[in-house]
Amino acid sequence: MIATSCDIMQRLVNHTTGESYPLDLPIWRSESGALLDLEFAGAFDPMELITRPATLWRYQEAIPISNPKGIVSFGEGMTPVTRMTVGGRTCLVKLDYLFPSGSYKDRGSTVLMSQAKAIGIQSVVQDSSGNAGASVATYAALAGIDCEIFVPDSTSPAKLDQMRAIGATLNLVPGSREDTANAALAAASERYYASHVWNPFFFHGTKTFAFELCEQMEWKVPDTLILPAGNGTLLLGAAIGFEELKQMGITNRIPMLIGVQTSHCAPLTAAWESGGSVPASIQTQPTIAEGIAIAEPHRGHQMLKVVKETGGKMMSVEEEQIAEALRWLCQRGYFVEPTSAAVFAGAMRYCEQAPNDELIATVLTGHGLKAAAKIQKLLSTS
Ligand SMILES: *Cc1c(COP(=O)(O)O)cnc(C)c1O
Repeated sequence: MIATSCDIMQRLVNHTTGESYPLDLPIWRSESGALLDLEFAGAFDPMELITRPATLWRYQEAIPISNPKGIVSFGEGMTPVTRMTVGGRTCLVKLDYLFPSGSYKDRGSTVLMSQAKAIGIQSVVQDSSGNAGASVATYAALAGIDCEIFVPDSTSPAKLDQMRAIGATLNLVPGSREDTANAALAAASERYYASHVWNPFFFHGTKTFAFELCEQMEWKVPDTLILPAGNGTLLLGAAIGFEELKQMGITNRIPMLIGVQTSHCAPLTAAWESGGSVPASIQTQPTIAEGIAIAEPHRGHQMLKVVKETGGKMMSVEEEQIAEALRWLCQRGYFVEPTSAAVFAGAMRYCEQAPNDELIATVLTGHGLKAAAKIQKLLSTS
């Protein structure tokens, strides 16, 4: 495959070398194996949204897929935004655990699988600590595309059951999350890699988080947005979304982005604290926040960069704080998985010390039903 000079308004690009590719190639990394980003100058008109259905596809002029008629969608998105009192102040919380597969990953999957279908893909591989696999498998089922998922053998049983029931072929890999990713990479040499980490289409789905939040706030943006920092699919997606809103002239600033990690797996917080621009190499410990236990995030340097550019930071929370946040949320009827509680624990800590006039928003990312047994155990022992 030769890198061509393609439409400059719309391309896959390796920012290190400048090489670029057209969007309709079935590739997910550059010829030299580097990360690709997707550049796309789409724009929607807020006035035109008023009559459209309340789904994330209401922003379709800003979503780069080749065939808008073949969209793979359940009508997902436009998740509620609630107000909670946290640390004595109001915090906006977007309920992204309310998606068809039970996590916000569906934002990325609906776009990624729509593109896969548009370019004629019949079989995909994916790897995941659970939710990304469940999400891609869900949209593969809807699209009628074959799907094989590689997961660590420590994945929550309910997530495995979910993927099996949907009809994905499961491949349980012993060892770490990185071992799983390597097994999937090997399989991806033959098939399309529907990776939420590598595939740049995924991020042009997660960016709709920013569009929705902004629309739901009557086209304003929060001062601070607290998000998970695992592989950064939401953090980087939100950054793209806010940047595009700015370019469309809808907003004039970008929220301060704060990424939350667990102290048991915090390569980005370690890098942040030592002023590094790439993830630190770290020792990990077991964590209840399986969804953000990413020791070697491929897009870590991008995450550190956007956090810095927006004036935000990376922070870590302790396992006990995660359990405490989970209890707090459950007692108020927000039944989410422990990974979501980790992000919320970060938001709680942040809210306790933030200036009173700062408008803070965060997200609940994954449904508790996927981890019900684990939650029960945690709440009865902590
Ligand atoms: C994937 C996931 C995260 C972490 O998101 P990243 O994109 O890896 O930063 C957080 N919470 C839940 C429930 C997830 O599934």
